[in-house]
Amino acid sequence: MRRANHDRINVPTLTRCSNCGEVSQPHRVCGACGFYGETQVIEKPEPTASE
Ligand SMILES: [Zn+2]
Repeated sequence: MRRANHDRINVPTLTRCSNCGEVSQPHRVCGACGFYGETQVIEKPEPTASE
């Protein structure tokens, strides 16, 4: 038996962050600002100035 040629071309899809515009993977939290969609799910680490 032969398989039909239904090879799917796996093209890496990229999406732009709606917050900062950085290109990131879809369904992934933006690595630049921590936004997922239109919601910030990861707070940017604030630099500790004191001590
Ligand atoms: Zn972003």
